[in-house]
Amino acid sequence: MRYVILSDLHGNRQALEAVLAVVPLSAECRLVVLGDLVGYGADPNFVVARVRALDPAAVVRGNHDKVACGLASDEEFTPLARTAIAWTAAALTPENRAYLRGLPAGPLLVSPRLEVCHGSPADEDQYIVDSVDALDALAVARAPVCLFGHTHVAVVFERDHERLHVRLPESDDALVVTLHPDRRYLINPGSVGQPRDGDPRAAFAVLDDEAGRAELRRVAYPVEEAQAAILAAGLPPLLAHRLASGR
Ligand code: ZN
Repeated sequence: MRYVILSDLHGNRQALEAVLAVVPLSAECRLVVLGDLVGYGADPNFVVARVRALDPAAVVRGNHDKVACGLASDEEFTPLARTAIAWTAAALTPENRAYLRGLPAGPLLVSPRLEVCHGSPADEDQYIVDSVDALDALAVARAPVCLFGHTHVAVVFERDHERLHVRLPESDDALVVTLHPDRRYLINPGSVGQPRDGDPRAAFAVLDDEAGRAELRRVAYPVEEAQAAILAAGLPPLLAHRLASGR
């Protein structure tokens, strides 16, 4: 099976539409969403409704989804995130709020070869930022390939019998990774709606778990339209400005 992997969409309609325009979703290529559909961006209802309509093979909730639908408090959030999530909670339709409330916590096994989570397979809210975090996560992952999000930084951790390799996308080209059957992987596709690795383009991944291949890709989108929507909604201007720098 092939999967299109999206994470941290954050209510960014323009970024989601740009990604969906270049990926070939079908019965043989299903959508997988790693959480944080909402928060920060101006179009939470559009993003939730679009994801629902695409009937994903798997969706796990993110920390922003939990706060937006009232399942968690915002006490861990920065003031900026708190302002945005209050706006988001008020904007959500009852249907979309109910959908977010019903999302499962990760980790979730999609197949014997593939597990997905928002933060880490050990804890849905934990950040995997370095090799120490990655080794801890690989120790508890139940499948040889584990997908995660939450940090908004695209990265591949690959564990062979000797050591851990860290691979970051470095150029305009996609990062293509061959998945060896005797190695274990932690893969973050990056963020669709609010990249934080210095590349403002929407990030996503395409994974073929039978052919053993993962592709971390980027697509440009009309950032200025997403920025205008954020400003028009009365959300903090910083949320608009940061989209241009991908930080
Ligand atoms: Zn996020």
